[in-house]
Amino acid sequence: AGAASLALTLTACGQSGEGGSKESSDGAKGGTIGIAMPTKSSERWIGDGNNVVRDLKALGYKTKLVYGEDDPDQQVSQIENLITQGVKGLIIAAIDNKSLNNVLQQAADAKIPVISYDRLILGSKNVDYYASFDNTKVGELQGNFIVDKLGLKDGKGPFNIELFAGSNDDNNTRYFFGGAMSVLQPYIDSKKLVVKSGQTKLTQVTTLRWDGTTAQKRMEDLLTSSYKSGRVDAVLSPYDGISIGIISALKSDGYGSKAKPLPVITGQDAELASVKSIISGQQTQTVYKDLRKLAKVAASMIDDSLNGKKPEVNDTKTYDNGSKVVPAYLLQPVSVDKSNYTKELVDTGYYKASELK
Ligand code: BGC
Repeated sequence: AGAASLALTLTACGQSGEGGSKESSDGAKGGTIGIAMPTKSSERWIGDGNNVVRDLKALGYKTKLVYGEDDPDQQVSQIENLITQGVKGLIIAAIDNKSLNNVLQQAADAKIPVISYDRLILGSKNVDYYASFDNTKVGELQGNFIVDKLGLKDGKGPFNIELFAGSNDDNNTRYFFGGAMSVLQPYIDSKKLVVKSGQTKLTQVTTLRWDGTTAQKRMEDLLTSSYKSGRVDAVLSPYDGISIGIISALKSDGYGSKAKPLPVITGQDAELASVKSIISGQQTQTVYKDLRKLAKVAASMIDDSLNGKKPEVNDTKTYDNGSKVVPAYLLQPVSVDKSNYTKELVDTGYYKASELK
């Protein structure tokens, strides 16, 4: 059965509480699969870990789940340990996409299939499949949301915008930013969008390890240096945790009142705090990626690989990791704001209505 043909279990939410390094004990038909996740500092990855464990167990595997605390060296040694412990397959969401070369060679030598989870691992031929979302589309959704919300297509403007991107060691960052800028750049060129700080290059706007506090500090600096007069009308933010930092900086600067409303602020992941922020009118948008589906795809890719079947893919051209084009199964992201969160997040069972109160 290919990834997409697996029936989706829509009952367990992406964000259930448990997490952490742990070993499951039931169901041993397929041996143990190692799962290396980047960090517990963001709820999405806690949900990912739990979902993948659940889906692998349902397929008859044991699991070992580890979190690298956003430290690339720690993640490498965790994966080395998993290999030493004899895992049959690996599902990895990389912290630093370029740091896994040696350890993946060890995996290949031990004939362990490797699924690159959500983030593409670069520079290694020992990546068998990639399970992710259409990452360019994520950025396009963010860019289009800003364009629509500001009324740029109706000729409104000019407006001031500032740009934020994700971690420079995460391959997704350039896809998100590239997608967003493909939409925003024409308006910057025609001066309908003005970046007063002048910081428009990816290298100027990245946020190491997607850290909200780092983003907050940068937003404070931008407000001090470039907005002594005039105000920010929109902020391109790539991720909910970064949006929260940006909103804090803006609020400390007096934004959030009738006279000085918060700008349009995008996000990603539909994390609980940000969905609540959207409902209360602070953050404006997020990009929802159904992590339950991603986990299913990754689990079934490992299962197929270990059973001599070809995993289902739907993209064989986009994700060149420098060593090979990694065959991918890409899921579709969805833009969520105040107008559609009930339909997308509650009706689909991703959150309970009571959690959003
Ligand atoms: C993921 C995003 C997430 C970000 C920060 C990216 O690789 O695709 O969903 O917001 O990492 O954790």
